[in-house]
Amino acid sequence: MKIKDVISALESLAPLSLQESYDNAGLITGDENAECTGILISLDATENVIAEAITKKCNLVISHHPIIFSGLKKITGKNYVQKAIIQSIKSDVALYAIHTNLDNLLNGVNGKIAGLIGLKSTVVLAPKESQLKKLFTFVPVADAEKVRAAIFDAGGGHIGNYKECSFNTEGTGTFKGGAGTNPYVGKPGELHREKELRIEVIFPAWLEGRIIKNLIVAHPYEEVAYDIIRLDNSAGDIGSGIIGELAEPMAEKDFLQLLKVRFGLQVIRHTKLLNQKICRVAVCGGAGSFLISSALAAGADAFITSDIKYHEFFDANDKMVLADIGHYESEQFTINLLQEFLEQKFPTFAVLKTEEITNPVNYFL
Ligand SMILES: [Zn+2]
Repeated sequence: MKIKDVISALESLAPLSLQESYDNAGLITGDENAECTGILISLDATENVIAEAITKKCNLVISHHPIIFSGLKKITGKNYVQKAIIQSIKSDVALYAIHTNLDNLLNGVNGKIAGLIGLKSTVVLAPKESQLKKLFTFVPVADAEKVRAAIFDAGGGHIGNYKECSFNTEGTGTFKGGAGTNPYVGKPGELHREKELRIEVIFPAWLEGRIIKNLIVAHPYEEVAYDIIRLDNSAGDIGSGIIGELAEPMAEKDFLQLLKVRFGLQVIRHTKLLNQKICRVAVCGGAGSFLISSALAAGADAFITSDIKYHEFFDANDKMVLADIGHYESEQFTINLLQEFLEQKFPTFAVLKTEEITNPVNYFL
């Protein structure tokens, strides 16, 4: 197996096009055509993690955080980023990051956290807009079934929990082939009328390449007619944060205690308790204060995230419990998520979790 095979599996889960504009997810160092000897998963690709990869004969480190995040103008080993890059290149250990593209999935970083807390009926807290497109294509009636199946096969036609959604209207197509054409029906130079179906299917923008490829292969015509439009609908399962319900309402202190146990926390920074039951819980792994207003608007009783600044705690407005459980702590199980995913894809391959605790934050208790 090559490194690019692992990458294509990861990008089928979390396409790079879903990352935020400021992010740098994807292959950061290394040769994607190299044979993969083993995979080590971590939150951060530090020098220690790369050393561990070398010891364990893994030439691919998959981290959540991209080691190169903003620009890098010199590589002289003056800081931890430069040191890690030098070590990665010298030792031929490729570095790959799966960051905000994994944050933006319903079943990504936040889905994992929601699962640990036991949230039900989860939906994305702040869905992204303009992630959906619509395809219209025109197919002879007899071939419609085959063409629809090819589009569905590439991932088109999913709406919520429904698959194979399409709308079909019958009409008449006309065409006249020019010199050198070889029309499927009719003769070159003669106007032909054909009973066709107009098939409409919604699809996520990042599947466009696959869907058009399948459409063209399955469609019988020499020139396939189709239109694609971008939609303003928000994609329900793509975006930032997650919100869901606890199976049973919990007292605030019991809820914070549950977080402590499930995430192995030493401390939780939180706004004042409001003496109300916790039922609706919003979650954002990593720095999530940009979602405080979304959590309030969605009626959250508690919002679990990290990296909250002093003034941002006021923004909870005594309407919900805002809890900062720590950046590393909130994202730590992303490693398990990636391991479970890759083990399922490559059952006979070594997919290891780092033994390094890369959290740079310590607590003096
Ligand atoms: Zn993070």
